Amino acid sequence: MESHHAQLADNLARVRERVAAAAESVGRRPDEVELVAVTKYVGVELTAALLTAGCSVLGESRPQQLWEKAADPGLATARWHLIGHLQRNKVRRTLPVVELIHSVDSWRLLESINECAAELGRTTRVLLEVNCSGDAAKHGLTGDELRRMLPDLPKLEHVSVCGLMTMAALEGGEAVAETNFAALLQLRDDVQREAPADIRLSHLSMGMSHDFEAAIRQGATLVRIGSLLFEGAAS
Ligand SMILES: *Cc1c(COP(=O)(O)O)cnc(C)c1O
Repeated sequence: MESHHAQLADNLARVRERVAAAAESVGRRPDEVELVAVTKYVGVELTAALLTAGCSVLGESRPQQLWEKAADPGLATARWHLIGHLQRNKVRRTLPVVELIHSVDSWRLLESINECAAELGRTTRVLLEVNCSGDAAKHGLTGDELRRMLPDLPKLEHVSVCGLMTMAALEGGEAVAETNFAALLQLRDDVQREAPADIRLSHLSMGMSHDFEAAIRQGATLVRIGSLLFEGAAS
């Protein structure tokens, strides 16, 4: 166990170095990029080891798993992000435990979040998921769907839309991923100009273990990294 934890701390340090180097390579500050450690592959023990190693922003892709970990006393200091698909019937249990939802992909879901957040007396921060790869199997809005939603966003008083999220194409490696990320950056810059005054799309959640450096070069402010952190540490 001890050696697993040492491996995890090493992996984390290595990832942080690579994040910083990628940011500096394009003249960005390393602290402009937040690491979201994706813990869906591991149990409570290794998740807790990440917290001990100084990484507290954690992501889960399944609401159920997020609820379970968020309720664990050993993980009380974690700041949870939901990075995967959210069904409307799971909104109510999710809102109280998340700091940010990365993966909102429909107006109906936005409305559900707004309604529940109002009942809970809070404002929920979300990103809108965009499909930049054209991959039909993926969740996410098209650019046109996003544009159509924009004027209505201020009506959702209990939702704060603070940016966009995407997943790169599975095929094509880092070069194709980088064109997908560049497309999200361009879309963000375009729609920001058309957006209502109080909507600030300042965050871009993009980049995973195999393509996070490309994402950082294209402006990512949140990278979602899982497998790279647990290499050699998960039994
Ligand atoms: C699993 C997952 C990640 C992390 O992927 P790795 O390749 O393991 O880094 C990032 N984003 C989402 C939406 C995921 O489901």
